[in-house]
Amino acid sequence: MRVHNFGAGPCTLPLPVLEEAQRELLDFAGTGMSVMEISHRSPEYQAVHEEAIALARKVSGAPDDFEVLLVQGGATLQFAMVPLNLLGKGDQAGYVVAGAWGSKALGDAAHHGKVYAAWDGAGSNYIRMPTPGEIDVRPGSRYLHVTTNETMGGIRMVDWPGTDVPLVADVSSEYFARPLPWDRFDVVYGGVQKNLAPSGMAVVFVRRTALAQRDLASYLRYDVHAAHRSLYNTPPMFSVYLMGMVLRMLDDLGGAAGLERISAGKADLLYGAIDESGGYYRSPVDEACRSRMNVVFRLPTEDAETRFLRGAREQGMVGLEGHRSVGGCRASLYAALPYQSVEALVEYMGAFSKGC
Ligand SMILES: *Cc1c(COP(=O)(O)O)cnc(C)c1O
Repeated sequence: MRVHNFGAGPCTLPLPVLEEAQRELLDFAGTGMSVMEISHRSPEYQAVHEEAIALARKVSGAPDDFEVLLVQGGATLQFAMVPLNLLGKGDQAGYVVAGAWGSKALGDAAHHGKVYAAWDGAGSNYIRMPTPGEIDVRPGSRYLHVTTNETMGGIRMVDWPGTDVPLVADVSSEYFARPLPWDRFDVVYGGVQKNLAPSGMAVVFVRRTALAQRDLASYLRYDVHAAHRSLYNTPPMFSVYLMGMVLRMLDDLGGAAGLERISAGKADLLYGAIDESGGYYRSPVDEACRSRMNVVFRLPTEDAETRFLRGAREQGMVGLEGHRSVGGCRASLYAALPYQSVEALVEYMGAFSKGC
């Protein structure tokens, strides 16, 4: 039996996609092999690869002056590749630190260039994003890095920073779930396992004018991936294949704008249940910054949270534990999570709070 999977990552995947993959597992496109066994230079795989890239472009709405790169190493490798590729000698870059992921991005970048925190929310326990005016970008900075949705804390950046400096965004946990002001960005990246596909890679959009030849090992260079259409070496073929199928579905739903509407609907339903619980459930984050993807909430006591999570598991609702570093509960409402799963959760929450 399939469960309601509220896990924060890897994410639930659409059932029709899993079924199609199952049907094709032993014989993909008449090759007599699975997509994991064929050559990455074969015409059958080339078609999968090109379709996934084209759909990533279409669904995201990224303009033609961006390259779409498929890179292994998840979002974490991008914490290094961004400064390695964008920072020339003497360049500096600012980072908005609104949670654990922004903090890691800054920490890793510090090994590779002169970077600074343009805003840090640690003092307020990462319960909100900065207002545009609070972000302190030093003149001449090469880029400003933002994490648009902090997955652990459950907050999202609603207003974009007001700066002329190009933005770089880690959008891992809300990938393709909102239209982006592309003219503001030089790089947009994210690991695919939060909203789009099984783990194994990041999708990285890089503005062509930001590509530079750097003195780096080949795999670390954006321009090398771009020149080889992300086939410089063997790509994570199963991840690419499954992402292509998920993106077909997202395309049918209306792309980023469509997914944004659907995500807002799911989030509104759940936050509504929290707000109308008479204080039994409580959202610890600033209301203006509530994430639509990772809904963090607390119960009156830790004991109640333990019983709540146990009862949820018994009813086929899994992955609701808060991140191990913060505790509480967290429901992740990623692209493939059905609306019915949120309805089931809300119904359970109502019954639980009344002691049924
Ligand atoms: C999960 C996550 C990451 C790390 O992703 P990996 O693909 O596991 O490296 C980075 N940033 C954000 C916002 C995330 O949610």
